[in-house]
Amino acid sequence: MAAASPALSALQARAAELRRLLSRAAHAYYVLDAPELEDGVYDQLYRELLDLEAADPSLVTPDSPTQRVGGTPAEGFTSVEHRIGLLSLDNAFNLEELEAWYGRLLKVLDRQGEPGAPVPALEMVGELKIDGNALALSYDNGLLVRAATRGDGERGEEITANVRTIASVPLRLQLANPPAWVEVRGEALIPDATFAAINQERLAKGEAPFANPRNACAGTLRQLDPRVVAARRLDFFGYTLHLPDDWQPEPTGADPGRPQNQWQALQWLQAAGFRVNPNAERLADLAAVEAFFRHWDSARKALAYATDGVVVKLNDLRLQDSAGLTQKAPRWAIALKYAAEEAPSKLLRLSCQVGRTGVVTPVAEFEPVPLAGTSVSRATLHNADRLDELDLCAGDTIVVRKAGEIIPEVVRVLPELRPPGAQRLELPSHCPECGSELVREQGEAATRCVNSSCPAILRGTLRHWVSKGALDVDGLGSKLIEQLVDRGLVGSIADLYGLDAALLASLERLGQKSAENLVSALADSKAKPWHRQLYGLGIHHVGEVNAKALAKGFPSAAELATAALEAPEQISALFGIGGEIAQSLAQWFATEANQQLLRQLQQRGLALAAGPQEREAGQQGQASHLAGTTFVLTGTLPGLSRSAAQALIEAAGGKVSGSVSKKTSYVVAGEEAGSKLAKAGALGVAVLDEAGLLALLQAGPGASPLDPPPGT
Ligand code: NAD
Repeated sequence: MAAASPALSALQARAAELRRLLSRAAHAYYVLDAPELEDGVYDQLYRELLDLEAADPSLVTPDSPTQRVGGTPAEGFTSVEHRIGLLSLDNAFNLEELEAWYGRLLKVLDRQGEPGAPVPALEMVGELKIDGNALALSYDNGLLVRAATRGDGERGEEITANVRTIASVPLRLQLANPPAWVEVRGEALIPDATFAAINQERLAKGEAPFANPRNACAGTLRQLDPRVVAARRLDFFGYTLHLPDDWQPEPTGADPGRPQNQWQALQWLQAAGFRVNPNAERLADLAAVEAFFRHWDSARKALAYATDGVVVKLNDLRLQDSAGLTQKAPRWAIALKYAAEEAPSKLLRLSCQVGRTGVVTPVAEFEPVPLAGTSVSRATLHNADRLDELDLCAGDTIVVRKAGEIIPEVVRVLPELRPPGAQRLELPSHCPECGSELVREQGEAATRCVNSSCPAILRGTLRHWVSKGALDVDGLGSKLIEQLVDRGLVGSIADLYGLDAALLASLERLGQKSAENLVSALADSKAKPWHRQLYGLGIHHVGEVNAKALAKGFPSAAELATAALEAPEQISALFGIGGEIAQSLAQWFATEANQQLLRQLQQRGLALAAGPQEREAGQQGQASHLAGTTFVLTGTLPGLSRSAAQALIEAAGGKVSGSVSKKTSYVVAGEEAGSKLAKAGALGVAVLDEAGLLALLQAGPGASPLDPPPGT
């Protein structure tokens, strides 16, 4: 026999790995009620196995998860055979797949129509795909005689005693003349609010919480004690009806006749006493199906229970019969799933971003994957520690997440699918931008490039200087900054002010007019307030809020530099939070290159100081915004001495008193605060901690002391 070709054996190996991983995940999910994989990840890997098997049917093995429905019934319950097989549903993950399914359906029904003619319309019923557990309910002469889980589709677990506790499952059909037997299929579920309460209770008892409502429901249905099931208040929606072939009664009174389509079947179920989901709709054609899906993709968020897609069913029951079944699922229905928030992808490489502070951020680049409605192919890994923790190798299959609007992230790796001999990915030892050796200080998470002339740092510094909160210069985007740096036209923020329109107009994608506008925007930016310029310098710990407070206390770069280098306690007193800001400012002003930058900026016409109006506003604000407010200090504040706190309050126009009365506006309490704090409580006087006091002091003129402190 000829040896298998290397390509085939690689595919065989991949199929075998996928089978192993998916079978274990299915067991954990269906039997143990403790999923090991995220649903979106399971679905995509399952799809990969299906595709491999479709391309080469010799890869199909009888034990492949693609060849069976669900899981084997769990032990501890009697296994029962379903009267009618309980199948799964085929999935479509987007509208193209829905259309492909519809095309196959038309073909099977021989309804394709003439080439070029409009696609024939078949009436469908759209239902919500409830994310619960399928149940098979058997009624004999109208009486509930048996309830079973889906199991492997042929045999399920008998859980009648448990299902009897579900209030929305009728124990007797509400029909005057029920058929000899009826099989009802539907979904048992736990609404979100009940789920949250169950998990809270479990946590309080020290038990592990359920992963999601579906698991909680599956676990509950498998309880050996029906009283526990009753306490968990499960719900049930009926959606499928099977009747004896020969049951053809005339409709009488409240008893409906034999349904001819799925829509009537839902009405029949309702008449017989079942809860039927009220959101089902009759859909005339594929366009209506798409609109139904789009509507529920957002409207589902307001539902009180989880859904993971919509189910589309051919309405006419006779046509359903003609379309028939595959081994696993009916051809006449499809589950159209909502976009996954987690999915697997293949890691391609690791790249690095160098930010304006020199911090190097590893970025995972992977095969594009649709997540929460967009295609994602990159995710930041934050730092070297996270990289180590993830333990990534080139070619790994990774799990990627993007919940809602949140930035994509790599959740974990699936080591089971790691290619043999795969190389571990690590941060480079040298900066990918300038080639200098990267440094990681002891105890720091960040790895940095410390070459201050690294072009990546310069680009980041320039971007920050012109950003909205800083100098807000219009027309200087990332691409232009890149050109200016790459061509050596700008080596510092001061150089921006030496650019002329003729030079700018010679650059790619910049016309004469835009170049002139940019030069005038830069000129205008020189008059931006001092606090914005200070923020724009990008000093560590000096964000927008701190820059404002500093600019008020130290109305020029010169005054701030003197305080930072000679009296850092003045800065600490302003903030009270450790000495981090003061230390960072001292370091910055002590660096010759920064002093030179300040000189250059001043030569270019930036005052780096508050203008007369700003100064006046600052002084007025400082002198008066707490006028009429009385404080009592008690206990030890973590970063402010009693006298510093008093000085700050008085500088802002407030008064400090020694005893608490009804007239006291605030009691500022530190550690080991005593009777004054108790008295404040008794009199209903507001109590602040140090951070609250500082926020109030910084709130500035116009802010009421009762406004929430900034940043809360
Ligand atoms: P399915 O969940 O994709 O669809 C079939 C099921 O949909 C039915 O059995 C029924 O229970 C349910 N359903 C809900 N509303 C319905 C309605 N209105 N009409 C008809 N049916 C409705 O298929 P499945 O075979 O139950 O399970 C496969 C799914 O289970 C996968 O897509 C995967 O997300 C999940 N799974 C996850 C893991 C894991 O490790 N996370 C493992 C195995 C399976």
